Amino acid sequence: MANMHFSDEFDFENRIMDPAEIPEDTAEGDNPLRPKNLDEYTGQEKAKENLRVYIEAAKIRHETLDHVLLYGPPGLGKTTLAGIIANELGVNIRITSGPAIEKPGDLAAILTNLNEGDVLFIDEIHRLSRAVEEVLYPSMEDFAIDIITGKGQMAASYHLPLPRFTLVGATTRAGQLTAPLRDRFGVLLRLELYTPEELAKIITRSAGILGIQIDYEGAIEIASRSRGTPRIANRMLKRVRDFAQVMSDGVITLKTAQTALDRLEIDELGLDNNDRRMLEAIIKFYNGGPVGLETLAAAIGEEAVTIEDVYEPYLLQIGFLSRTPRGRCITAEGCRHLGYDFPKGAVFGSGAVQLSIDNKHNA
Ligand code: ADP
Repeated sequence: MANMHFSDEFDFENRIMDPAEIPEDTAEGDNPLRPKNLDEYTGQEKAKENLRVYIEAAKIRHETLDHVLLYGPPGLGKTTLAGIIANELGVNIRITSGPAIEKPGDLAAILTNLNEGDVLFIDEIHRLSRAVEEVLYPSMEDFAIDIITGKGQMAASYHLPLPRFTLVGATTRAGQLTAPLRDRFGVLLRLELYTPEELAKIITRSAGILGIQIDYEGAIEIASRSRGTPRIANRMLKRVRDFAQVMSDGVITLKTAQTALDRLEIDELGLDNNDRRMLEAIIKFYNGGPVGLETLAAAIGEEAVTIEDVYEPYLLQIGFLSRTPRGRCITAEGCRHLGYDFPKGAVFGSGAVQLSIDNKHNA
């Protein structure tokens, strides 16, 4: 039973709840929903207020901003915030990602093309190769790189000064960053899942930009089912709009939102079929847990990193799942929500240690 595989029943292609970016998110051209400055950026008050101070101070001193590391689950606004930092500083931004920088030479080309004060945004910075990281360290610290040309006796080394720039790195897993890289960031900001009220504000703003009519109850309903993630909230808004056009003269109300999201099989807490299947697998095959991450991943035909980055943050946050030293466990609340009795003899609740989301990411 334990190695039963039901990946065929999963709908990964069209996962409305996937916090990773899909083409639909940017289909309306240069993503008009992205806030352009700190005042338009809802929530993340702590990160925002700190940034505001650092940006002002850098501007007053006519210096570049210290390197910034943004970390937290996908879809929470890391890329958006990098753009805002550049905007607020009045400089250009160059956007790339860890996997896109294959060789040290790729990074050297990017760095030497920056202008004084520019922001260089590297998404998924934990995926940089060691060789590339080695070039990044001196460039972050001394704003210079050493380039070696030729081989053997013909080899020559050049010390190339770079313009001063601000590196903004983003990662879903701060714990996977090497210590020397992490230590070179002056500002570390953790982004948190958003509250339904914050998401309702984001949804109302997005609706205004897209010309969609929505009332407060409709916005709160979509917000509470968006698992704390603005990217999912915006995506749901667009899907619910179609239902509103047919059902309620184009206005998104509580009832329209409920009907639309029920049809999309997203429940009132934002769980979709994939979450339910994962939790059910823990109950049915592992007696509520603990079950190791890799075993669980194999059972539901999913990658372990996807479970960690996509499913778990929200399920941990709402207290349906717990991480113990021996594996994942479902909680009594999780069982109740799915309509199951808490399995007899299940480990969670009998001395298991629950780790917080933060520990998970720093583990
Ligand atoms: P990440 O880089 O963390 O994966 P993004 O910055 O791409 O996330 O954000 C995803 C989408 O969510 C953006 O297109 C933006 O429209 C929206 N968004 C994110 N954070 C906010 C926010 N604080 N306020 C308003 N919209 C936001």
